[in-house]
Amino acid sequence: MDALLAGLNAAQRSAVTSPASVLQVLAPPGSGKTKTLTARVAYLINHDGFLPWNIIVCTFTIKAAREMKERIRGLVGDGIEAKLVLGTFHSVARRFLVRYGHLIGIEKNFGIADSKDSLAILKRIIKRQGYTVEPSVARSRISSLKARSTTAAQFAATSKKVEQHEFANIYTEYEETLRLSNQLDYDDLLLRCADLLRKHRDCVSTIQAVLIDEFQDTNHVQYELMSLFAQYMKRITIVGDPDQSIYGFRSAEIKNLERMREQYPETIVVNLENNYRSSGCILTAALAVIEQDESRPSKPLLPTHCVGERPILRKLPSAAVESKWIVTEIQRSKTLTGELFNFNDFSILLRSASLSRHIETSLGKAGIPYRMVGGHRFFDRVEVKIILDYLRVINQPDQNDALARIINVPPRTIGEVTVKSMLEEAELKKITLWELVRKAVRGEKRPETKLSKQAEKGLETFFNLIHTSRNKLLNADGQGCSLIDLIAYVLKKLSFEEYLRKSHPDDFENRWANVEELVAQATDMAVAAEDGINSDEDALPVVKGIEQREDSSEDLLSKFLANVALSTEVEKAEGEQIEQVTISTIHAAKGLEWPVVFIPAIYEGSIPHSRAEDTDEERRLLYVGMTRAQSLLYLSCPTKNSQRENTTLSQFIAPRNVTRVVDTKGPSFGFGVTQDLARILRRPCPPESVIQGARGLIERAEDDLWPLDGEELDPENNYWEPSNINSDTLPTSLPSKRRRVE
Ligand code: ATP
Ligand code: MG
Repeated sequence: MDALLAGLNAAQRSAVTSPASVLQVLAPPGSGKTKTLTARVAYLINHDGFLPWNIIVCTFTIKAAREMKERIRGLVGDGIEAKLVLGTFHSVARRFLVRYGHLIGIEKNFGIADSKDSLAILKRIIKRQGYTVEPSVARSRISSLKARSTTAAQFAATSKKVEQHEFANIYTEYEETLRLSNQLDYDDLLLRCADLLRKHRDCVSTIQAVLIDEFQDTNHVQYELMSLFAQYMKRITIVGDPDQSIYGFRSAEIKNLERMREQYPETIVVNLENNYRSSGCILTAALAVIEQDESRPSKPLLPTHCVGERPILRKLPSAAVESKWIVTEIQRSKTLTGELFNFNDFSILLRSASLSRHIETSLGKAGIPYRMVGGHRFFDRVEVKIILDYLRVINQPDQNDALARIINVPPRTIGEVTVKSMLEEAELKKITLWELVRKAVRGEKRPETKLSKQAEKGLETFFNLIHTSRNKLLNADGQGCSLIDLIAYVLKKLSFEEYLRKSHPDDFENRWANVEELVAQATDMAVAAEDGINSDEDALPVVKGIEQREDSSEDLLSKFLANVALSTEVEKAEGEQIEQVTISTIHAAKGLEWPVVFIPAIYEGSIPHSRAEDTDEERRLLYVGMTRAQSLLYLSCPTKNSQRENTTLSQFIAPRNVTRVVDTKGPSFGFGVTQDLARILRRPCPPESVIQGARGLIERAEDDLWPLDGEELDPENNYWEPSNINSDTLPTSLPSKRRRVE
């Protein structure tokens, strides 16, 4: 027990050991909320004797789930963490549906429609019905309705205007299409699970505790799920930070915090105030940003580390130069600090994934390995997606969109128009595309779509391949062939290597490496399963008296595909072992930390984003980004955006309309500084640390206003030297420092 509580401060300990049945830990970034939550899980097992499979823990990202598992393993012993019902809301919900979905009419082996599938379905519906709405707009509207648990029927019943009727038709048909192809979209996983737990409460009758990280970003359905999970035993712990609420655009409801206190009046609130992540200067600068929100109640956030290096703000002539600068800085700070950092210690956090192009190019040129989080997924790469679509269709041929994508890949003389028309025909007849193909090939019913002789032949080849693969999977002495054998079989039958070589002669090596990586990932999973390790998430309590699906232990292929569908991360082909710089969206970096963080493109239109409706949320986003940094923080802004238009420094940082250099040494900043920062600095007695941090930002903005004329960087000049960064001045808890000492 001592080990469990060791390394926690008094407030954290009291939260971990609190006898409160409903607990909210509300605290700023880096104050150890996740650490506290993790320790509480361990405490419930070790001290209160809760069984791990009766504890539900929801995290926001898969990476966070993995990290938490690691930490819990360290606290309670090997193997126990695998028995926890721990994962993202989506993965936990999916587990309930796999086991009990039949109780609400969800068929076994349901597929998961990812966002691309949803978009493709909507595109067709909108076109067929002759409406004009953008498919992506329709998708986010459906998603936000689902987040609020509004079904198509409910929406249709309340819609009055023509436009609403149109949309209700789209929504209804979308749902019907998903149902026909036995698929659930991401929102359905949550919605249907809530439906299940409302109608069949006993599925959660054994649950003893529910714990949730990053609660400030839960939406309505997730909140419902939380209270449904906890409907038998009200033991709930949530941790969160209203200042880090950044998913409002996806219907997250910050009022869930209040709602929870109303629903559970016994709620005890604990606050943590010490920050264990960032240097003093970084915290000060981050606070100077978040405190611009005047409606925000002021709260203490006390650094526990040294003041450290001031954050850097730099203007550069273009995004290309900006990215070169970042690369140079990575190399410089590695060498200047005597290799104190390795590539894993750096991250580049972006407001939008689309900003990554220049950065990827520059890193690539410099030979610096990187991984992308929250951008284009490894699983979305064309060659990987083709194989995955084959696996999806073999597993469950009713998935129309996956089937339509591969029916002519590699080419089988089935033209694009033919595929589209068959898909339309199937949807109109309310049958699946697979059924249409099957009947055509077997000569049972000719499709109305005109088929050339070659196309007929192509269909037959395709049908036979899927058919034999399915037989292989399902039969083979009742055992089914292994996942790896299946992939090997498909690759061989498709002559996939040759196909890639011919279709992408310039890029063949990389693409084939990706296919090999996919095989490697499937192998890892198969090996883990053989070793009896629950590599991924099927822990769930067994409840007596409720009918489980006959065979609710899923086969590997379904599990593999679900993992893929729910993953948001990109694993580089080389695997996780090697040291890599991280490129991530700020959204996906939530809860994580790195010794060195770069946030480029800090200009108006980028952050705050031109399409963002809520400026306060954009400010919080920058705050989240800045508070990921442990010892060095770099903000930068190209003076021209990608359309080569002049940019204006973000209002959150900008010395607005600076026309002359401000006396950065004196106590007053008055002129030219952004109103908000000025307000903070002009307070009667601003704490010294606030001045220091904010001054760091402003000073550099002044120095760097137009520092470079040419496109090329001169690394000898115009550069900051990390003069006093060394292993003695770094915050002691930094991973790089730990590595050094060990
Ligand atoms: P965020 O809001 O960004 O999710 P958080 O509040 O969840 O942050 P953690 O990630 O739990 O914070 O902790 C931040 C860092 O501080 C981690 O490296 C953690 O190990 C460390 N830390 C937390 N509490 C302590 C402590 N009492 N002593 C030393 N280090 C701590
Ligand atoms: Mg956290």
